Amino acid sequence: MTKNVAISACLLGNKCRYDAKDNKNEDLLEKLEGHTLISFCPEEHAFGTPRPTMDLVAYEEGNKAISNESGVDLSAPVQTYAQNFFDTHTNIDLFIGKDRSPSCGVCSAKLYDKEKNLLSTNEAGLMAKEALERGIVCVDAEAYLSLSWL
Ligand code: SF4
Repeated sequence: MTKNVAISACLLGNKCRYDAKDNKNEDLLEKLEGHTLISFCPEEHAFGTPRPTMDLVAYEEGNKAISNESGVDLSAPVQTYAQNFFDTHTNIDLFIGKDRSPSCGVCSAKLYDKEKNLLSTNEAGLMAKEALERGIVCVDAEAYLSLSWL
């Protein structure tokens, strides 16, 4: 059955990573043949490309995306993009996120404390978190490739 798949644009070959490179994955594209792909990149939309990296940092009120260059909280533009994306695309059957991204990773993003100590390596990035909270089936790209039933 054809699915509407929301997918990190860098996995499709868009050069929207922080370093203006992509994460194109031919095996992934092959497995997704026949499905409708709807790409997204919250960070390029919010900050342009190339751009400084950011990390997920744990705060009492929740995880935030903090710029590694300036220390500024960059969460709001990513969260707003995510909300608008899912408000606009209400027919998403599956979300595939780029592993380890603080925006797109589903259960693979690193989480640090404010002193930059690593707390976890299986967090949801901010865009994936929005998808999960809306009840959308979400999976990291590397996990999707290893699953025969999805
Ligand atoms: S992981 Fe997400 S935010 Fe980062 S480049 Fe890919 S689509 Fe954009």
